[in-house]
Amino acid sequence: MTRIDNLDSTAAGEVDERQDGGIDTVTFPICVACGTQYSAPRADCPVCEDDRQYVPPGGQRWSDLAEFRGSPWTARVEEQGPRLLGVGSDSTVGIGQRALLVKAESGNILWDCVSFLNDDLITRLMGHGGITAIAISHPHYYTTMVEWAHAFDVPVFLHAADRQWVGRPDPRLEFWDGPKLELADGLTLHNAGVHFTGGTVLHWQDAGQPGGALLTGDIIQVIPDRTHVGFMYSYPNLIPERPHVVAAAARMLKPLTYEALHGAWWDSTIPSRADSIVQASARRYADFTNPQR
Ligand SMILES: [Zn+2]
Repeated sequence: MTRIDNLDSTAAGEVDERQDGGIDTVTFPICVACGTQYSAPRADCPVCEDDRQYVPPGGQRWSDLAEFRGSPWTARVEEQGPRLLGVGSDSTVGIGQRALLVKAESGNILWDCVSFLNDDLITRLMGHGGITAIAISHPHYYTTMVEWAHAFDVPVFLHAADRQWVGRPDPRLEFWDGPKLELADGLTLHNAGVHFTGGTVLHWQDAGQPGGALLTGDIIQVIPDRTHVGFMYSYPNLIPERPHVVAAAARMLKPLTYEALHGAWWDSTIPSRADSIVQASARRYADFTNPQR
């Protein structure tokens, strides 16, 4: 039983009278299993009912940000690399990922997102210079992105191929299409297409260290053996990615150089030679999925 099970649920969509800080004052329902926020109460969560997530055995449960903020959960901001901060909390809602604050010369980019957001987290990120834009790798991390966009008054860049998974439409969401989008000098989104059709990685050419970095969420998965990475269509349900999709992603990423690779979870980092590790991992994947093997 998670701690959220012990908290009384509040009716989704009710006006929250507390009016604290920059957080929206209306409570929108959040799926406890995947962390996705929706614009209206509903019985089902499409993200959880998809093959890439799951409906928990006890059924779908709902919460909201007001309930999170009344819980004992606290914000967490920790260094994950040069000019790179992990952003999250000790919340048990959703998948457990942390976001990353990329402290680039051109401004801070929040890479990926988490459901938990309170005044303390906003204040701490403002102390690091705030956020100029948000970019998200795939729908499992859409979470409360609209709350974040409103709190920091910034756009959210999402790949158009995954538009159907947006639970709370908002004018702040900016859909981009095609293989890549340059966010700023030396910061480029690439549509690798693994895990989700719009699955995106962020290449950071400068990265505060020689060689650059690739930020991947779990589009490219950092695994316990840091000499390789993984490629899966569904992590919880153990469905491998289709070999032609992995091959296409490897081809797309081949021209990029990056020393470090940062995955979706706290300290999921490959510190060096990450570009050749990704290519070698794609070759190993092709070998193991070869029907002639
Ligand atoms: Zn869900």
